[in-house]
Amino acid sequence: MAVAFITHPDCARHDMGPHHPECPQRLSAIEDQLIASGVGQYLARYDAPLAREEELARVHPLEYVRAIHDAAPHSGTVHLDPDTAMNPYTLQAALRAAGAAVLGVDLVMRGEAESAFCSVRPPGHHACRARPMGFCIFNNVAIAARHALAVHGIERVAIVDFDVHHGNGTEDIFAGDEHVLMVSTFQHPFYPYSGTENPAPNMYNVPLAAGAGSQAFRNAVLEAWLPALERFRPQLVLFSAGFDAHDEDDMAMLRLRDADYGWVTEQVKAIADRHAQRRIVSVLEGGYALSALGRSVVQHVKVLAGLNG
Ligand SMILES: [Zn+2]
Repeated sequence: MAVAFITHPDCARHDMGPHHPECPQRLSAIEDQLIASGVGQYLARYDAPLAREEELARVHPLEYVRAIHDAAPHSGTVHLDPDTAMNPYTLQAALRAAGAAVLGVDLVMRGEAESAFCSVRPPGHHACRARPMGFCIFNNVAIAARHALAVHGIERVAIVDFDVHHGNGTEDIFAGDEHVLMVSTFQHPFYPYSGTENPAPNMYNVPLAAGAGSQAFRNAVLEAWLPALERFRPQLVLFSAGFDAHDEDDMAMLRLRDADYGWVTEQVKAIADRHAQRRIVSVLEGGYALSALGRSVVQHVKVLAGLNG
């Protein structure tokens, strides 16, 4: 059964201005490396639908969803926070990004795909219930998790976040929710300076110091994530797949390599194989060094597709 690759041209029309690292070229860098590696031909491509209001409303208050609609400009750019802006295409892109994650869940839950990768922007994991933040507007992974719980009748969803930044929005939404387990690694102390003070019991946060590399990351996965995931027995696994902890990414100071993304995917996939009928939906978060981003996504998707030998 194929891996679904879900994206939409609208996601490349969202543009926060020249020199913004969260740029449209991120998606073409991923497409380029999928072609260059030959992995792209094994993926089943889907157009991301627009998320519906009821899907967004499982995570975000309707007043917030409507405020985002109202903020969308007809021309030019408006800033939602110092890092996060909307152009005339952003609303569509944000609805497609959340819609992609929902479609990914539907495909794997219905057995139409074994797993799915959503190549979308804007990213989502800093978006809180009622607050855009850090390039994020809607929390795509959270919307996917709530959709799976509400529509597909499962009770345990795991969220695996290896972005270099702590997924404070996802934690804000799910802290204390017994149906969701979140495991994460992130550089600390670093933006958004959260994730270390008394996290809820369903949050397994492993802060890593600037300069930490493959070994520290792999130890965190082996010692903290995997035992927690094994005990939780997730029925669906979601990745908040940010690739900005890569050594070549100057957004932050962790030093992961391409191979670490394949390795962590293998480790988590073994959990999904055992407990979740192999169901994995991965949603793009950060990753700003274009070549490293494309190569690292290939390592990740290659393992999802079982092409890693
Ligand atoms: Zn990030």
